[in-house]
Amino acid sequence: MEENKKRLKCEIVTPEGLLVSEDVAMVVVPGEMGELGVLPRHTPIVSKTVIGEARIKHLRNEQWEHLAVGNGYVKMQFDRLLLLVDTAEKATDIDTGRAREALSRAEKWLSRTGEPEADADRAEQSRRRALNRLKVAGGK
Ligand code: ATP
Repeated sequence: MEENKKRLKCEIVTPEGLLVSEDVAMVVVPGEMGELGVLPRHTPIVSKTVIGEARIKHLRNEQWEHLAVGNGYVKMQFDRLLLLVDTAEKATDIDTGRAREALSRAEKWLSRTGEPEADADRAEQSRRRALNRLKVAGGK
């Protein structure tokens, strides 16, 4: 029965607001040292997360939902997980055409390093976000 299952309150927050707020079975987030799987009653943590894929295992059907996330932090305490990230999109909401355009813009900037207006770090972050969106959306 769903009521008896161990659950984790998962909140995914971006500067635009609350993208996810629901009780789930498990969450996987992209940590700096690799994927971090979080089950209910996980040890309390605060940790940095990086551009990558987050996954949520739903209680209702035990299916995994995939999201593309930007850099941020995860906090786990009691049975609550908060993922605070600069961007997050559910796989089904990703606009792959837009990501491809962002990728080619970023690659153009990266080929112009040395020019005063070319910000290589910014271009690299943008390239990673775009590649990640394409991977999560399955469009690459
Ligand atoms: P772009 O140049 O296309 O805006 P970006 O990497 O500069 O890409 P971000 O700063 O990462 O964009 O994101 C800005 C906002 O747009 C965020 O709310 C993010 O979730 C959303 N977003 C960016 N790219 C996509 C995409 N391909 N599909 C859906 N939402 C996107």
